[in-house]
Amino acid sequence: MTGIRFERVSVAYDGTTVLDALDLTVEPGEVMALLGPSGSGKTTALRAVAGFVRPASGRVFLGGRDVTGLPPHRRGIGMVVQQYALFPHMRVADNVAFGLRAQKVPRREIPARVAEALEMTGMGEYGRRYPRELSGGQQQRVAIARALAVRPGVLLLDEPLSALDARLRSGMLAELARLHRELPDVTILYVTHDQVEALTLADRIAVMDRARLQDVGTPRELYRAPRTEFTASFVGNANLLPVTVGSTGVAFDGVELQVDTQGAAKGAAATLCVRPHLVGLGPGPNRLAGVVGEIQWRGATHRLYVDVGGHRVMADVRELRRPPAPGEAVEMHFAPEDAVLLAAGVSSD
Ligand code: ADP
Ligand code: MG
Repeated sequence: MTGIRFERVSVAYDGTTVLDALDLTVEPGEVMALLGPSGSGKTTALRAVAGFVRPASGRVFLGGRDVTGLPPHRRGIGMVVQQYALFPHMRVADNVAFGLRAQKVPRREIPARVAEALEMTGMGEYGRRYPRELSGGQQQRVAIARALAVRPGVLLLDEPLSALDARLRSGMLAELARLHRELPDVTILYVTHDQVEALTLADRIAVMDRARLQDVGTPRELYRAPRTEFTASFVGNANLLPVTVGSTGVAFDGVELQVDTQGAAKGAAATLCVRPHLVGLGPGPNRLAGVVGEIQWRGATHRLYVDVGGHRVMADVRELRRPPAPGEAVEMHFAPEDAVLLAAGVSSD
């Protein structure tokens, strides 16, 4: 099995660093999502693994072997890029066979390998079609089949679902999860800007922002205990309250809140992260009093935006029979264990 290791990998275009000393290990058979906003360097990191971009410094290892200088076709990688990039003049079967020919797989073995890959993606019946005769979702399956045909140790997926509409996307997400179960030895690096895809598919998520790795952990770790403000707000919704550390909690807008200060120095400025769905309406411990600014009905829940001393606090509460109106004063609360203190200076800049 083939793991991936980035060792202080930097990439620059025209003197601008777009990937800054990336250190990251993807374990053999693991699905790692690279999650971050557009332009954060995700595709560049993927291309460095594939061999399409040469790092300015640092090394890339596959299965413990330094491949930094190796050409793409000798890395044992399957890759699916954002726009599928099927060859329009080739039938589906020839598209899937393409990588096998490049790898000089013996001619007589190719049809069976193509059939196997198409079966795996549910496209067994479509070998004789041309890409233009397929829907977007089907083209995407063919692109995945083409990547799998070479029986790669590492599968690189670059926003593979971004061109599909929302319904197809969730279907394909389930398909990818199934493929991963059927191919447990294939290590997957999955680039996305969509937190739902990352939370659903990945064993671990590496959060990228502005050319840098911000955080890495399991979906649960990043959601429950984000290390940075960037992670807190990018992985899930977050209230980020500016607070001052006290002796048994923190002060927010002059109010004492009981939270685990995690040994932070008294008097230090910090940020308190509270997830909106963990904020309750009504009195309770860790009381926040404010005035409703806006209220949105979201079916099963209401999202309240409440002004607390000039700070906007979001609360997602179960659908209310009589929701408060904008301008109404409300009390909110949260449990001490539902807040995470982020040290100032661990933000993304
Ligand atoms: P992401 O995939 O996270 O959206 P990319 O890795 O594609 O980000 O790009 C990171 C940065 O590098 C962006 O600012 C992008 O404009 C720049 N970039 C990417 N490829 C090239 C290139 N071939 N030449 C110059 N700049 C590039
Ligand atoms: Mg990209």
